[in-house]
Amino acid sequence: MNISYTVRRSRKRQKTMSLQVCDDAKIIVSVPAFTPADDIRRFVEQKQGWLAKILARQKQEAAQAKEKKYETGEHFFYLGQRYPLEVFFEPFEKEGIVFRNNRFYLNCRSDKALRKHYFISWYKQKADELIRRRVDFFSRMLKLRYEKIRITSAESRWGSCSEDNILAFSYRLIMAPPDVMDYVVVHELMHIREKNHSSRFWKKVEECIPSFREHRRRLNHNRRNFAL
Ligand SMILES: [Zn+2]
Repeated sequence: MNISYTVRRSRKRQKTMSLQVCDDAKIIVSVPAFTPADDIRRFVEQKQGWLAKILARQKQEAAQAKEKKYETGEHFFYLGQRYPLEVFFEPFEKEGIVFRNNRFYLNCRSDKALRKHYFISWYKQKADELIRRRVDFFSRMLKLRYEKIRITSAESRWGSCSEDNILAFSYRLIMAPPDVMDYVVVHELMHIREKNHSSRFWKKVEECIPSFREHRRRLNHNRRNFAL
């Protein structure tokens, strides 16, 4: 099997070899600085089965994510879980989304744009409620005071912290598992103290969320799943 990959050599921290598959199916192997190319190739070959599985899943997810029609039987993410959607149209009932018994119920006429709109406003409302709660929790715990919170529709950015400590979070974050959401919350709060991504910054994040690397990886892998 001919697998192309990019090698990242690190003198610091990296003690073993590890593999990562990016959103665009690019494969990255992180290795200790002085590792022979032959060893790297052997390592990648050993992981062939795993890689094939990941790449196949990515392909399937990409196909699914592309064609959201907002119809019964489709699935939508909420707090890291996939839930099925049921659509109906009762003109005398309130239009919009109700989430009940692990299911999305959408009362809406056959109008894709309108259905999408209802989803976005539902997610935004939930994001506003839940992200705010987590920010308050960690802000108190870490004694980091923010100016205010904004919920955005950002597609490529999960969160940000401005010069004057205004925190912004994408409503899509509410589709991720709660511990992943917590990581982003802590990440942005830490920027109140450190307005950069220095090693000191990451150390502070790690003190609070020891497994943050795993969460960061999951977020990047799921970007497509969290598209509407
Ligand atoms: Zn950052």
